[in-house]
Amino acid sequence: MPLQELIINGFKSFADKTIIKFDSGITGIVGPNGSGKSNITEAVRWVMGESSAKSLRGENMKDIIFAGSQFRTPMNHAEVTLIFDNHKHDLNLDSDQVAVTRKILRNGDSQYFINNKQVRLRDLRSLFVDAGMSQNSLAIISQGKVDQILNSRPQDRRSIFEEAAGVLHFKEQKQTALKQ
Ligand code: ATP
Ligand code: MG
Repeated sequence: MPLQELIINGFKSFADKTIIKFDSGITGIVGPNGSGKSNITEAVRWVMGESSAKSLRGENMKDIIFAGSQFRTPMNHAEVTLIFDNHKHDLNLDSDQVAVTRKILRNGDSQYFINNKQVRLRDLRSLFVDAGMSQNSLAIISQGKVDQILNSRPQDRRSIFEEAAGVLHFKEQKQTALKQ
């Protein structure tokens, strides 16, 4: 399912609203050390529902809000939107384009939107899990992940195959039902 556009505003080093358009094929992002390449992949993970501040290299989720610089005052919120081409309906929604947005305020409150309609984090997560693109999927392979997969315990590796086979979603639903 192709990514079309990533819109970053106030996330980490992106104080100005920044629009990244993805053409078909492979997109490479290049730049000097510290220029924000990793911040871009973190923005993608964050808008897709990442809940661990540590995995975004912060102590607290609020740390992802632009903290200010020598020349700019800090921002009071961060907002990221990811737009998918959904004409093949890989995401279980009728629309041919799906925009997913996440916002966070300095007080720590987060808001989530699918096509401008406010939803719960849970709804956003299940949209991606259904499409085999949850946070633990191989949709995003970060530094060190290849080694981690190769060296993981058999039971951890099993969950990777379960996700690829599309059964992880049902397992999660079963666990939720058992807790209720
Ligand atoms: P490398 O090539 O070394 O991997 P990179 O291009 O991946 O570098 P990033 O790690 O994405 O760079 O960006 C790091 C920069 O982001 C640092 O300059 C850091 O100060 C800045 N940064 C991180 N969080 C914030 C924040 N909340 N507010 C402002 N700037 C931030
Ligand atoms: Mg980096």
